[in-house]
Order: sequence, then structure tokens, then C-alpha cells
Amino acid sequence: MDLKAKNSLLATFSENPKLDLFSGKDSPGKTLLEKGAACEKGKEAVDSENSNQDEKWVERDLLNLSESKGTASKRQAEEDFQESEKRPKLETLKSNLRILESKDGGKPRKISRPERILREILSESIISIAQTIHELPEETLELTKEYLRNLISTPEKKAELVGLQNRLEMRSDLTKETLSKCHKDQLKILVAVRTSLKSFLSRNIRLPMTDMIEIFLFMRCRNMNCKSLLPVDDYDCKICSGNKGFCSSCMCPICLNFDCASNTCSWIDCDVCSHWCHVACGMQKNLIKPGPSLKGPSGTTEMQIHYIGCGHASEMFGFVKDVFLCCAKEWGPETLIKELDCVRKIFRGSDDSRGKDLHIKAEELFIRLQNKMMPAADVCNTILWFFNVEALNTPPLSR
Ligand SMILES: [Zn+2]
Ligand SMILES: [Zn+2]
Ligand SMILES: [Zn+2]
Ligand SMILES: [Zn+2]
Repeated sequence: MDLKAKNSLLATFSENPKLDLFSGKDSPGKTLLEKGAACEKGKEAVDSENSNQDEKWVERDLLNLSESKGTASKRQAEEDFQESEKRPKLETLKSNLRILESKDGGKPRKISRPERILREILSESIISIAQTIHELPEETLELTKEYLRNLISTPEKKAELVGLQNRLEMRSDLTKETLSKCHKDQLKILVAVRTSLKSFLSRNIRLPMTDMIEIFLFMRCRNMNCKSLLPVDDYDCKICSGNKGFCSSCMCPICLNFDCASNTCSWIDCDVCSHWCHVACGMQKNLIKPGPSLKGPSGTTEMQIHYIGCGHASEMFGFVKDVFLCCAKEWGPETLIKELDCVRKIFRGSDDSRGKDLHIKAEELFIRLQNKMMPAADVCNTILWFFNVEALNTPPLSR
């Protein structure tokens, strides 16, 4: 490509919002958002979803909305002339767009208006979006949020969401200072994309702007029930330092999701480093397995969880027993089934007799309860009796 052709392509590139979205810098032309606002304000329908047309022509329509109707035919003539003159370049741009879109993880496809607005919010400068979002009708903003909500909750669209997150990742202008100039809905959208949490889009969210900004910048936990300042650890932990936004007070180092579960055998914390772990995630990674007994007679084994952060092994029998003795009376049948299911799975590979007995007992009670062969209250009493008798027979082992 010669220099002239390249310059001309670049010029059109930056005029075309579809393409400039990817540069992450200010567009010299009017942005789609601005156009959208103008469009809605003028109550004039312009089909910005028509991807067969160059955005440029739509933009001209919008810019001309304020003109008197008399100039319309003149404008049309101008456009017809320019359109025929620029068609080859348009083809080049379309193919560029296709390449860019396929880089985004998807096949070439039609981009809807809410999606374009969303992309613009994520790509254009904070200030320009903050200004135009004020003028955007509530309805349009709602449609954009709805599009994002759908994107977050549809597993098949994961690649698309990751593409948007990567785009945010590439921007260097998103600092505490610039973000403080955000429109509140703009910030909600930025945070929701970054955290993959649609709860940030809620109308009822009552988080101060500063908290939202800190969540966006990975300085604060995204779990609204936790909101710890990050990192929580004051020591050099490879999990906390290796995962942006990871909160050891409430997140699982394996699936990286937060959990606020309590009174359950399915969510366990380490005595040494206080990091949590889903028992199901630990089993998936083979972190729950028999190991040499920590406090029992030498040469014996017990079921342990090995924490990936600190490498500490913690025995499971005492933990499960404590949870049941403390909470089982309060559980309904559904919870009791889930907890027994968890226990039978934890102790499935036991080598020691205690672990084996617990596995057999939990399995038996789980089946009886599930098949309604035994009332929940009886199941509960039986497992509590098992733990109490076991406690009489062996010296207590603390976790
Ligand atoms: Zn940590
Ligand atoms: Zn947290
Ligand atoms: Zn997990
Ligand atoms: Zn630990």
C-alpha cells in the first residue's frame, strides 16, 4: 500500500466508529453515542443497525438532523456522489472490520445498536462518554445494560465478554482520577464488564463512586458483602499476587469465585493462611486425599485438604464433625441431603477406619433421605449419634 492510500485509509478509519473502537483513543468524529443521543432527541429514525451501510453516512444523517428540511435533497445528492466515489475504500474497511471482529472471538456478524453503544462506552475517552451519556435517553441506556446483562449470564457468549474485558485491559487512561469523572451509569457498565457481575448494573446498587472505582482498579473486593481492601494478605502470597482482584477473605483460589457460605462442609478455610476453598473445587484438583495423620498415632492416615496457597494440610474429619454438631439441627431436609452428599464424597477415598466408617454412614443416610426411606429428623439424629459415639471412642482431634 502506498503512503497516500495508507493515510487516506487511516483517516477514514478514525472517522469510522466501528473501527476506531479498537484504538481506545478519542475519535475526532462524532461517536455513535453522540449520534444515538442526537437521533433519539430528534425523534428521527435512523437505522444505525444497518451494517450494509457505512457508519459515515449514518453519521452525516445525524449531523444534519438540525438542518432545515429544504436541504435534505441537496444532502442526498452529495451523499450519492460521495458514496459512489468511496465505495472501493468502503469494501476495504468492511474487510478490516471483519478481521477485527473475528479477532474478537466471533464470526463476522451484524452488530446491534446496544452492542455498538457498549463497545463505544468501553473504548472512547471517559470524558466524552460521560458528556454524551447524559443526553442518552433512559430507554437506550437500559437496552445497553440489558444487552450486557445477557452477555454476562450467557455462557456461550463468554468469548465475547472476554474480548471486551481485554479491550479494557489495553487502556492506560483508566486511572482513579479519570474514572472519577465518569457518569454513574458509565462506571456501572465498566465495573460490570471488568468483574463479569451484572449486579453492578442494578438500579438499586448503593455503592459510593469511590468504592466502584476501587473495585474497577482491583483495589477492593468485588463481592459487595465483603468489599475488603486488596490484597488482604500482608505476606507474599502467590494466589493473591497472581490474580488481579482476588480476595482471600471470600474467594476460592481454584474457581476464583466468591462465596459467602457459612455453616456448611462445602466451603472450608485454612487455619494457617485463612484462605478459603470450595470442597468441590478441591476434590476436582485432587487436593482432598489421605495423608499421614497430623495428631493421631504415627503410621496412620487421615483425609486431608491440601491448600494450594500455603501448602498446609488440614484434616477433614474434625472439620466435618464440628459443622454437623454445630449446625445439623438447623438444616432442612434439602440442606441435609447436600451436606451428606458432600461428606460421602470427601471420605470416599479414605484409608483410615474412621474415614471409611464415616463414608459408609454418610452414603447410607444420603440414600435413605433421598429416597424418603427415613425422616430427616431421624437421619440427623443418626449422624449426630455417629459423631458422638466416635468422639467417645477416640481422643478428640482438633483441626
Ligand atoms: Zn493470598
Ligand atoms: Zn472479599
Ligand atoms: Zn471454587
Ligand atoms: Zn493455608
